[in-house]
Amino acid sequence: MKCPFCDSDQLIVTNSRPTKNEMEIWRRRKCLHCGGLLTTHEKIDLSYITIVKRSGKRVKYNRAKLYSGIYQAVAATKKIDRGTAGDISEKIMQLIEKEIVGLKLKEMSSERIFEVTTKVLKRDYPDSCLRYIAYFSKTKTFHDLALGLFSPLENPDTTPEDR
Ligand SMILES: [Zn+2]
Repeated sequence: MKCPFCDSDQLIVTNSRPTKNEMEIWRRRKCLHCGGLLTTHEKIDLSYITIVKRSGKRVKYNRAKLYSGIYQAVAATKKIDRGTAGDISEKIMQLIEKEIVGLKLKEMSSERIFEVTTKVLKRDYPDSCLRYIAYFSKTKTFHDLALGLFSPLENPDTTPEDR
């Protein structure tokens, strides 16, 4: 990281604390060269995780794809109004990612991600959990179901080689 004021890379962390459900780290840094102060919010980045699909294909963890399935399930849940679906989905994503971080794995099967997702949903949003399972149950078997997590049939940006 470089100082935005003078371009020096001599930055030190003067303070830090976890925020937002411990999924973000707030850090205050000071530039030793010009004395400039800056604050950063760093999200826990799970892109180091490799997802192993049923087909054996390995892909990087993709937050946007997981979020998209959850959002559609939440938005389709009767008691949840569409305006808050985004906030709720984000909260659910944070809970899921916290679980994933807790597993301390560098590689996960798509089934495992599906399990973690449904576990979190079942505990906190049972109605959305059913929606979520229904959303992916258009495919034939559980393995297809789990695989579908990373290539939902209705996702327009899904390319054939994702399947
Ligand atoms: Zn500086």
